Amino acid sequence: MPTLAEPLAKLMGALKSLPGVGAKSAQRMAFHVLKAPREEVEALAAALLEVKDKLRLCPECFNFADADACGICADPGRDRSQICVVEEPGNVAVIERTAGYRGLYHVLHGALSPMHGIGPDQIRVAELVGRVRAGGVREVILATNPTVDGETTAMHISSLLRPLEVEVTRIAMGLPVGADIDYVDEVTVSKALDGRRGV
Ligand SMILES: [Zn+2]
Repeated sequence: MPTLAEPLAKLMGALKSLPGVGAKSAQRMAFHVLKAPREEVEALAAALLEVKDKLRLCPECFNFADADACGICADPGRDRSQICVVEEPGNVAVIERTAGYRGLYHVLHGALSPMHGIGPDQIRVAELVGRVRAGGVREVILATNPTVDGETTAMHISSLLRPLEVEVTRIAMGLPVGADIDYVDEVTVSKALDGRRGV
């Protein structure tokens, strides 16, 4: 006899497949669902299906959107001459939380990775070049991750955009606030040095 009732084991298995959820968290969540009122569980199930059914990609920036254009592209208050290029839709949310950026975005949905066979055709690079070619863009900010793949992607994009009349910048990577240089890896320290500016 299995120790867990089958539906419960199945739910735990499904939860465990989510990023950042281990066996213990999956068990806690599953028991919470079991004890929760039916309406709460129905709302959760409906929310899960709704993101699958109703969200699509914004035709301009490829962020997730529930209408034709995403809220950022549709906002007349945004600076349309700046495009910040990120790897994943989640990165947009992080930059938006800083509230310092008022331009538009371009979500690549990945990064170039020769090691994993991911080439320019598998991410939204051509669409970015198309947006710049269409005109009105003054600056493209490359905010891909400070990883080997992220750097490769940034270099590739900057070489594609070089012939076009647009300024291409890379976000400064550096030491996290409160870090002790002794305990930060060399890549971070060298990036922090490269990104230095006058004070
Ligand atoms: Zn958009």
